[in-house]
Amino acid sequence: MAATPTAPGPIEGRCSYFVEKKNRFCRMVPAAGRRFCGEHAGAAGEENTRKRILCPLDPKHTVYEDQLEKHLKKCNSREKPKPDYFIQDINAGLKDETEILDEPVSTMIHYLI
Ligand SMILES: [Zn+2]
Ligand SMILES: [Zn+2]
Repeated sequence: MAATPTAPGPIEGRCSYFVEKKNRFCRMVPAAGRRFCGEHAGAAGEENTRKRILCPLDPKHTVYEDQLEKHLKKCNSREKPKPDYFIQDINAGLKDETEILDEPVSTMIHYLI
């Protein structure tokens, strides 16, 4: 965690999450009985009933496990082409095949035996 916040403590009745980027506490109003707003409940580890998992389409962001199906339909990453490494793997395989075909005939015979 960051050094001691320079801002005063969380405002009464507001989200208790300290936003490092803004150097102050979140000002969102949480649901009754909650310390954190919906945005920060998961980040603060307060809400254990809902599990956040990495998005299978883009591990750079997370999604509630119970909303994964819904998320996958609108995820920003779903339109993107396959990752580069996937294509590279295919190319590597094709290259190997070509190299075998370019081998001298003697080797080809050896293969037949
Ligand atoms: Zn908040
Ligand atoms: Zn996603």
